[in-house]
Amino acid sequence: MAGPMEKPEEATGRGASRLLHDSLLAQLLPRFAGAHAIPLRGWQLPTVKFPILRYTTFLMHSITTLDNLWMGRPRSIAAGLLESDGHRAVVDPGPGSTLETLQRQLQARGIGVGDLEAILLTHIHLDHAGATGSLVRENPRLAVYVHKIGAPHVMDPSKLLASAQRLWPNELQRLFGETLPVPAENLHILEGGEKLTLGSRQVEVVYTPGHASHHVSYFDKTEGVAFVGDTAGVRIEGNSFVMPATPPPDIDLGIWDTSFAAILERKPARLFLTHFGYSDNPSEHIGLHRWAALTAEILRIAASDSAAMDSFMSATYAEISQHLPAGEAEHYAFTAGLNLSFLGLARYLRKRATAAS
Ligand SMILES: [Zn+2]
Repeated sequence: MAGPMEKPEEATGRGASRLLHDSLLAQLLPRFAGAHAIPLRGWQLPTVKFPILRYTTFLMHSITTLDNLWMGRPRSIAAGLLESDGHRAVVDPGPGSTLETLQRQLQARGIGVGDLEAILLTHIHLDHAGATGSLVRENPRLAVYVHKIGAPHVMDPSKLLASAQRLWPNELQRLFGETLPVPAENLHILEGGEKLTLGSRQVEVVYTPGHASHHVSYFDKTEGVAFVGDTAGVRIEGNSFVMPATPPPDIDLGIWDTSFAAILERKPARLFLTHFGYSDNPSEHIGLHRWAALTAEILRIAASDSAAMDSFMSATYAEISQHLPAGEAEHYAFTAGLNLSFLGLARYLRKRATAAS
């Protein structure tokens, strides 16, 4: 979840301080209708028609959860591997610190980075997108899909890294590893509304700001899976408890509600969450406003910002602990970064108060 960008002086990053062959058919292909359409490189019309179709049907559609084992923890950061007819893309490859794990997870499935065609970024926070530049360095043919607001910070992550550095002066490298720039020529700029094709998969891009102003979600029509990044909060596979992820700098709860409605409107059978894995109950994923109300009350009575953060973390940890066994509660708190959720909500509420006065 970690939050970079538009306000680079603000907090960035996550809350860890405590916390078959080459196919004959299509490449990952955006079919833009708009003027900002980006011509696809490498697109080839099918050159062979015939028996191969039966073969490719046998080939596969699969979505695989790749556990990045972030900070040595299973079920913390998930990358999604989409395969269709021998074409492969990864949704949110994770941070630079887990690049080797990602490579090993791919290798275990007989896939190299060179076999990937595209990276689909839900947003550019380091825990989702940090490894992208390293992957492109290894495979310069990779197409990287990212929302237009996030794109400049993928091309030049210096502001993003500077703000993360302020948050974690001694831990940035350990938490997130190396974050390399992505060359402009690899980028495919999204605004929402695009239809992508991977093999015979159809993937719809929906602009879903709220967690971040540049957040998009990807809807796979074939299996009814919505890759929602952090828009649906944190729900660690194996548990039913859902909690919001509200880091600075640019959460917006009102817009977030609209984005979540847009997700539900498309009736996905399952959500794929970065933190972590599948959820089969999409409608249970909204609980943003309860923690916003809690934050408002704490800010009203707390003696200082640090006291307010302590109160928020104690109260939310107590809530989490009511729903989860101790080990899982600690894992949620670590993965979601309760301190960052407080900072994001406090900033949001103060901004609103200032705007209203
Ligand atoms: Zn995240």
